[in-house]
Amino acid sequence: MTTNDSLRAAVAGGLPVLPAARIAGRAVHACDTSQRSAIYNASTGATIGWRETASASQIDEAVQAARAAFDPWCATPPTVRGAILRTVAERVEEAREPLVALQMRVSGKPRVEAEADVSDVAATFAYYAGLCNEAAMFDAEPVALPDATVLAERFYDPVGVAALIVPWNFPMVTTAWKLAPALAAGCTAVLKPSELTSPAEHALLDLLAQAGVPEGVVNVVNGGAEVGARLTTHPLVDKISFTGSTAAGRHVMHAAAEDMKRVTLELGGKSALIVREDADVDLAVSLAVGGAFTNAGQMCSATARILVHDHVYRKFMAAFETAVRALVVAPPETSGATMGPLISSAHRTRVQALVERGMAEGARVAFWGQVADKVMVEEAGFFMAPIVVAEPTADNVLWTDEVFGPVACVKSFRTDDEAIALANGTRYGLVATVVTENEEMARHYRRRLKTGLVWHNTPQLIFAQTGWGGFGLSGIGRELGLAGLRSYQELRHAIAPAPR
Ligand code: NAD
Repeated sequence: MTTNDSLRAAVAGGLPVLPAARIAGRAVHACDTSQRSAIYNASTGATIGWRETASASQIDEAVQAARAAFDPWCATPPTVRGAILRTVAERVEEAREPLVALQMRVSGKPRVEAEADVSDVAATFAYYAGLCNEAAMFDAEPVALPDATVLAERFYDPVGVAALIVPWNFPMVTTAWKLAPALAAGCTAVLKPSELTSPAEHALLDLLAQAGVPEGVVNVVNGGAEVGARLTTHPLVDKISFTGSTAAGRHVMHAAAEDMKRVTLELGGKSALIVREDADVDLAVSLAVGGAFTNAGQMCSATARILVHDHVYRKFMAAFETAVRALVVAPPETSGATMGPLISSAHRTRVQALVERGMAEGARVAFWGQVADKVMVEEAGFFMAPIVVAEPTADNVLWTDEVFGPVACVKSFRTDDEAIALANGTRYGLVATVVTENEEMARHYRRRLKTGLVWHNTPQLIFAQTGWGGFGLSGIGRELGLAGLRSYQELRHAIAPAPR
């Protein structure tokens, strides 16, 4: 059976029991069934598979395997590593349809979003495959010195064993953002998928093996926070790349401090979308809907704080209401579905509790979207209607805290300084969107907004070539782009006498 066949089978029938770990190409199972947790279909609430939890000794074994594989992988010429990464990208494209179906089945994402995820994964592997052919990424380069008697060189070595910990909202995508540069740099890895969406990572791992990634170079440990936490404290781990909540990120940073492990943290956000008075309002509405309700708002980059100039506020709100009410909140198989469920019952309860707290603090709902009638009657999935709150106070929890669900707040402003102050008035700083027809003002916003990425008049386009990451509580470091590769390399220098 080829991987694509097994993927198709997983999508059509039940999912297999995912082993506690995959170590040097072997599936390693838990000793007993008490170590099994259900994997749900977020659209129906049905159990569609099981995943085991890795024990302390299995985590250790996985790290040891990555350590043992490090020297040969690091010694593999970058161009050879690149050829393997290119094959991964091709395998992902070949498996596109079953991968899309798997994403839809587990996370309940609408087809268009699941397709975008798969495209992103392939593009990320292809980009880092390309960087592997650029000598400047790996070869020693001379450094100009003011002293002619000596020569200096700068060079880059892989950091070592990388622990890669990912969340559930874009499972294969965040994994690709870590794995592709780590492998390109010559690192080996132990991956800890989210406990809720691990089938996606296991499917990707099958493709990596098929593409020729040697055994032991990428290992997987399954489980929740405790497995992640144990992985971060393992003394043979040299680097941690973590994507998840700011709260968990703090624990990870503490754990890394013990051995001074290198860390990249991609954490939460509370991003703004700014609609200037000269904005194309139709464009602004479509960017607001995409920014707040793609993936049911479960995005670190959700632009859930929408700032609208007084002069266009009424027009914007009327069109925004029409657009939000038109969202088809339904399982991905439903024709025209545009918004899926939340990932779990527990997460929906958390989001609803935040909404209730926001209301108790005085927030006013301007309008709601709706969950499709059929879904309300027949489905037991984790759906929630989109909510738009108008003019919350600056200290309302819905304005200050990351909700990670389909909840957007709108506030009006009168001047650009006020809009910029409101947008920057957060301890996060991941992304921002500005909607304006004035190029000069767009540049002004780009300079003044304190975020890792600013979009002007575009949807949330993400390219492997540009960096991803933010200020403040949004994390440390950058993924993607050249910075993504460098974050898996140690910068080194050598100085020696110049030849006479
Ligand atoms: P989470 O922090 O609960 O979990 C993320 C991952 O970390 C999971 O695999 C989890 O098992 C593991 N984990 C939890 N506690 C840990 C610990 N103490 N040590 C090690 N590992 C631990 O987050 P989540 O609920 O899965 O995802 C949602 C969060 O992720 C949101 O806050 C969102 O903003 C953030 N996120 C950020 C980005 C980004 O690029 N900045 C992208 C996606 C998601």
